[in-house]
Amino acid sequence: MKTTTRRQFIKRTGIFALGSLTSGFPWIRTNARTSEVDVVVVGAGMAGLIATETLLAMGRSVILLEASNRIGGRVNLDKQTFNVPYDRGAHWLHQGSINPLLGYAKNNGFSVYKSPSKEILYIDKREATVDEYREYNKAYRSTYRATGAAGRMGKDVSPASVVPDVGKWNELVHLNIGPNEMAKDFDRFSCLDWWNSEGGEDWYCREGFGAIVEHRTASVPVKLNTSVTGIRWGKSGVVVETDKGDIMAKKTIVTVSNGVLASDGINFNPPLPVSKKEAFHDISMGVYNHIALQFRENFFGIGEDGYVIYPPESGKGDQREFVSPRGVSMLVNISGSNLSLCDVGGEFARELENEGVAGGIDFALGELRKIFGSRVDKHFIKGDMTMWASDPLFQGSYASAEPGKFAMRKHLGTDVAERLYFAGEACSKLEWSTVNGAYKTGEHAALQVHRSLPT
Ligand SMILES: Cc1cc2nc3c(=O)[nH]c(=O)nc-3n(C[C@H](O)[C@H](O)[C@H](O)COP(=O)(O)OP(=O)(O)OC[C@H]3O[C@@H](n4cnc5c(N)ncnc54)[C@H](O)[C@@H]3O)c2cc1C
Repeated sequence: MKTTTRRQFIKRTGIFALGSLTSGFPWIRTNARTSEVDVVVVGAGMAGLIATETLLAMGRSVILLEASNRIGGRVNLDKQTFNVPYDRGAHWLHQGSINPLLGYAKNNGFSVYKSPSKEILYIDKREATVDEYREYNKAYRSTYRATGAAGRMGKDVSPASVVPDVGKWNELVHLNIGPNEMAKDFDRFSCLDWWNSEGGEDWYCREGFGAIVEHRTASVPVKLNTSVTGIRWGKSGVVVETDKGDIMAKKTIVTVSNGVLASDGINFNPPLPVSKKEAFHDISMGVYNHIALQFRENFFGIGEDGYVIYPPESGKGDQREFVSPRGVSMLVNISGSNLSLCDVGGEFARELENEGVAGGIDFALGELRKIFGSRVDKHFIKGDMTMWASDPLFQGSYASAEPGKFAMRKHLGTDVAERLYFAGEACSKLEWSTVNGAYKTGEHAALQVHRSLPT
């Protein structure tokens, strides 16, 4: 997601049994009776990978299970589709000064650089005039301030209930602060939650964000294609049920998305406390997708990583009802390549998934034609669209509090009976919705588990 300068007010490697892992995964047993490992970690996204690495480094026995055939989760570098790096998930390294992956990238030869913060505003087929830029910036700032003021005052209300009417800029400002940043429309998130997040500089990586994560976690052992279906837990430990059999452990760390947890993708027996179950719904998943378009040449006339915005078409109904804007925001010529990302968010992005990949590409091309005319078709090679909401392993892009539900966030990261531990982006207090947030929650949960186990 793009955040530019928003929300910036507030504040190994254990080699344990690697051989056994690669030689057929002997701990998975049906009806096993004894505790086989210290910890089972569920999900090999950023949080699960770091949790596993941390525990192995402390000498614990760990199995990391991943349902899909790859690591990284919502960090997913695709080098095949376009023959240039295409981050299907996270692309921006947020909160640069506190992001452990940025330091790692710098020290390991990755080409990272600060994201240019300038947005290029188009009105019809031309760039905005100085006056139009001024008007838009004023509208943006007043909406941003109203959302921030409500949050600062502890108001757990939606932006829809506090933002001013900024006339013809309503839709664009909504698109930029809501769908683009929060993956939600103005009526679906809390000003207080929005306020309680770290700000900071955004960075890019020429090799793709996913390349950093792949490199950083290359030595973490993981069992792919193993879906966790249930977790039985009690005083004596946990039994993690998978499609390949059961695994017994002393403890488990669950790192799957709130989308998966809210839909009972994993059956807990006995059930989780009500407050925790409610929190999975209250800190709900927003939708944010990339429509990636490849062009023969840079006809945009904008340098690399130019960020193009324009007033989108209103959704159905009155603008002030905050109907999800039907528009894209475009990051063009990513790191100087011939790939551009047209991003969509909020309910509109969810609806667009129903149109399929081809429908999404058509939509984005149509939006680009409004600005760049026939040059779009002349230079277009091919496209793709991500579908994070329809993917059963995610069921959305990242999570934030529904209006009035900010207090529920604290239930996400708490352990249950010192048997079940939870990590992942949504468990982060101030870096939620980010890869760095997921990273730190994985580390934190691992340390908690380590301390709770006998030495
Ligand atoms: C389109 C998009 C753009 C984004 N942009 C940015 C950005 O620019 N910068 C940024 O910092 N963040 C961004 N994010 C958010 C960021 O990607 C996530 O916050 C972060 O990657 C989440 O990591 P995680 O470990 O918490 O969860 P996940 O990455 O979701 O990892 C959980 C893992 O669990 C697996 N799993 C699910 N169910 C099961 C099961 N039953 N059994 C076993 N395994 C299972 C999943 O396959 C997955 O691999 C973006 C996300 C999306 C979707």
